[in-house]
Amino acid sequence: EQRQLARLRHKPTRTRDGVDIRLFANAESREDVSEAHGLGAAGIGLYRTEFLFLQRDGLPDEDEQFRAYRDLVLGMNGRPVTIRTLDLGADKADRTGLVLGVEPNPALGLRGVRLSLARRAVFETQLRAILRASAWGPVRILVPMISCREEVAAVRALVHALTERLRDEGHAVAGQVALGAMIEVPAAAIALPCFIDLLDFASIGTNDLVQYLLAADRNNEALGELYSPLHPAVIRLLHQVLKLGRERAVPVAVCGEMAGDPAYTRLLLALGLTDFSLHPGTLLEVRRIIRDCDLKALRRRAGPLLRAVDRDGIGRWLDRA
Ligand code: PEP
Ligand code: MG
Repeated sequence: EQRQLARLRHKPTRTRDGVDIRLFANAESREDVSEAHGLGAAGIGLYRTEFLFLQRDGLPDEDEQFRAYRDLVLGMNGRPVTIRTLDLGADKADRTGLVLGVEPNPALGLRGVRLSLARRAVFETQLRAILRASAWGPVRILVPMISCREEVAAVRALVHALTERLRDEGHAVAGQVALGAMIEVPAAAIALPCFIDLLDFASIGTNDLVQYLLAADRNNEALGELYSPLHPAVIRLLHQVLKLGRERAVPVAVCGEMAGDPAYTRLLLALGLTDFSLHPGTLLEVRRIIRDCDLKALRRRAGPLLRAVDRDGIGRWLDRA
């Protein structure tokens, strides 16, 4: 079994009916990056930069961040690397001093892009480091916790201004650094038509999207099945976002745990997903399932999936897929 999976390392991620699906890797460390490269990942779909900030006292400066991002880019050897800007908040233990105080509702508080826009200097330092790394290979910037057009517009303007400034200072910056939003706040998923024109790509963070959509804490074990992506609200919203991405030719990935769970691979394909971003640990298993799928047949079965009225109905769809 393991040996059979290992043989898929250099096989294309192509369905039986000949459609290429892209498997990007989620990475948090240098080890994840080399593993992703060895597995033939299409690129890094989510690099969580919190780790550079959490395992130390004080903040990493621009050069330290630049070196970390550049090494990441070099490690992927020309494949795109998606660097997510800081997603810190009062929910993560932090010694940087960036997160002030205790919030009554950290998941609903000053986290992700909200914190970045409130601590402008720290955000600029990170964006400068990422932009400088873009001179070494394809880099995409992914912004967490976007909830409205204003935030995307503010980040876009900042990236533009910093690019000009860096060039004036004599730094090389790639001609095109794609800017994308995490779709993980329900408002962003629903209002995506209002700001998709500002995005080069999007990535659905199902971990948080499920939590906010279902009002179910992602870390509260007592909620059991209530925290589950198999709720009709989640399925319908995923379908809607993926459809809009297709219509507007904006690539939309899923980068939450759902994308790496082999139990959901067929369901996501049926909903129209073509870009997965997942932990390297299950990449080959997901590739195996995709290579076994008839995508056209699955897509034809999207109707019944969208009409399912409860978790059991969606579960029965999964059993038959
Ligand atoms: C998500 O919310 O689905 C996600 C990928 O981000 P994180 O798990 O880091 O919040
Ligand atoms: Mg998230």
